Amino acid sequence: MPKESAQPWTLARRAELMNPSFIREILKVTERPGIISFAGGLPSPKTFPVDAFAQACAQVLRSDGAAALQYAASEGYGPLREAVAAMLPWKVDPDHVLITTGSQQGLDLVAKILVDHGSRVLVETPTYLGALQAFTPMEPQIVSVDSDDEGVRVEDLDGKAEGARFLYVLPNFQNPTGRTMSEARRAALSARAARLGLPLVEDNPYGDLWFDAAPPLPLSARNPDGCVYLGSFSKVLAPGLRLGFLVAPPAIFPKLLQAKQAADLHSPSFNQRMVSDVLKDGFLDRHVPTIRALYRSQRDAMLAALAREMRGLDVTWNTPVGGMFLWARLPAGVSAVDLLPKAVDRGVAFVPGAAFYAEDADARTLRLSFVTASHEQIDTGVAALAQVIREATKR
Ligand code: PMP
Repeated sequence: MPKESAQPWTLARRAELMNPSFIREILKVTERPGIISFAGGLPSPKTFPVDAFAQACAQVLRSDGAAALQYAASEGYGPLREAVAAMLPWKVDPDHVLITTGSQQGLDLVAKILVDHGSRVLVETPTYLGALQAFTPMEPQIVSVDSDDEGVRVEDLDGKAEGARFLYVLPNFQNPTGRTMSEARRAALSARAARLGLPLVEDNPYGDLWFDAAPPLPLSARNPDGCVYLGSFSKVLAPGLRLGFLVAPPAIFPKLLQAKQAADLHSPSFNQRMVSDVLKDGFLDRHVPTIRALYRSQRDAMLAALAREMRGLDVTWNTPVGGMFLWARLPAGVSAVDLLPKAVDRGVAFVPGAAFYAEDADARTLRLSFVTASHEQIDTGVAALAQVIREATKR
């Protein structure tokens, strides 16, 4: 008999795999008041259409209040599924749209229905940390595919694709790097994946946030039967709604639906109706350009600060053409993980790139979000960052 004081719980193996990452622990410090944070993955709250939601909230309660507060179908609210299908740049049947509780739930559902213990899952190098977290409890073998500044290098798929359950891919303004896949790379990836019989899970929460020109068509548009597409209202409306969607072919849609049913029955009916109401009359066509303009000016402020402050330091960075993130690389011998506490002491935070690698991290990389800090904070924060880098390279 166990002693009465002994705790009675035995964790499942999958729970043992859910370790808080070392980096997440360090990042708690970045929430201290006074820290200029380029670390967060949050959209700018200035972009949240509060008034539109105030109106939609009243309207939904007035016209459809009881239904909005009742249980509902797991697939999602019909008019919202239709609006999503109509919004996407290829022909999508609303019956293939599943409304999810954020696209993060889409990642979880996909992993649940496609991944067994030991199944191979391919990811970009680096990739979205939240996807690694969603996949890991299913105990996959996660394999990184070589990637360059456009994403996966298709040649590297040949030896790795066999038996893989899917390749998880972020073609637009990727989290964490901000990089985008060209038209030619998309065509090559789509053709190679089809030839190899490799399904694609395409995650596109940032695709609408382009600065100068819309990105090329999604991979899902080229081969809808071989792709699951994940989308989100978090970056174009507000993340607190917890509403996203997926588009899946009939071969797997029913399983995703069953997994969704088991997870949460359905995403909040009230929020779905409010979003559906807000989307009426082309709201996004007016609203999203304001987010693009804001984020573009934020990116420009960060690029200008980097060019000014990093002069003489062997630091490199890219120029994202959309989204929220920029990717930088420190001088040889300087680790971003080691640099972070020193940067926080100086009042600035970022995410070390190591967090985003499934294998063989590049310790010199870091992710900088440019959307939530003011231009003044960007100037001060980048100057502080340059100072700690200068000190680290002197040693
Ligand atoms: N995918 C990527 C690449 C993301 O960056 C995020 C948000 N950080 C998500 C999915 C999840 O977004 P949400 O659940 O809010 O739709």
